Amino acid sequence: MVTNLKDLIEKFSDEKKCIDFLVQQRWGGNPQCPYCGSDKWYSIEGGKRFKCGNNACYKKYSVTVGSIFHASNIPLTKWFPAVYIILSHKKGISSIQLGKDLGVTQKTAWFMLHRIRESLKEKGSPLLGGTVEVDETYMTRKLASDYKGYTDEQVEEIMSNPNKAKQKGKGAVMGLAQRGGDVRVTVYNEIDGKTAKQHIKDNVTPGSKVYTDSSSLYRTGLEEYSRESVNHSLVKPEWARGDVHVNTIESFWGMFKRGYYGIYHYMSFKHLQRYCDEFAYRRNTRQLKDGDRFQLSLSRIEGKLPYKILVHGNKEKDSQAKA
Ligand SMILES: [Zn+2]
Repeated sequence: MVTNLKDLIEKFSDEKKCIDFLVQQRWGGNPQCPYCGSDKWYSIEGGKRFKCGNNACYKKYSVTVGSIFHASNIPLTKWFPAVYIILSHKKGISSIQLGKDLGVTQKTAWFMLHRIRESLKEKGSPLLGGTVEVDETYMTRKLASDYKGYTDEQVEEIMSNPNKAKQKGKGAVMGLAQRGGDVRVTVYNEIDGKTAKQHIKDNVTPGSKVYTDSSSLYRTGLEEYSRESVNHSLVKPEWARGDVHVNTIESFWGMFKRGYYGIYHYMSFKHLQRYCDEFAYRRNTRQLKDGDRFQLSLSRIEGKLPYKILVHGNKEKDSQAKA
């Protein structure tokens, strides 16, 4: 696989090479018609597209159909480095910078980044278990302008204190970190005790150890777990008691917030979940080499649109629009 960005650009120097790679990733080298499922196919347009070999269908399709790369005029020779770049930058990359790097407009880069983030979303993963740290934080739309002129350290200090930062309101984020496993991050408009507890129940196997801080959100109603907490708000704050601490999820917040104020400066509430998915994905694949992470993420581009939606696309869209 690719070892660095230069290697990637050389290996995927033209559209056909990118297509061949995706055909391998998506179909094991043997295209499958997305409309009728037939595995009979003809190569057309110099191997860049395919024609279904089922004579009741005969539709033409490309390997990007139904994927995050579909129906954009952006060539794969730009998509591939974009995926590699966002995944290999620990704090992410701004659309302005990516635009410059790829020679596309900031608007195009912004669109690409959000599509890539969309593909990094957690999908149907099993419940977390063992020891799970739970914590919540606040990311508001006002954040960037509020902290103009502050040093990184000052911002970090303010952010660690929700009251000081006036972070009540939109952009509440719930984080779960399984020790030795994944982090999961979910955006809520607001978090109250009921939301917090339901979130834990939806994501953590009963019987697991659940560690929290002393927040009143978790004090009662989690009897199916063995819950323990550390009290950060004492005069002499208690950060850890034996193995009871929430340092794993807090170090994730640290990285997320460094990305927030160092790179993005602004995350609208509307798109906040996608940024969470970006940071969680990078964190959960941190043991992979950049090239392996790139390859793994390309395996997630498929199936963006299930067969049904693809075929009855307009109908689905209509019913969604009415809902
Ligand atoms: Zn077909």
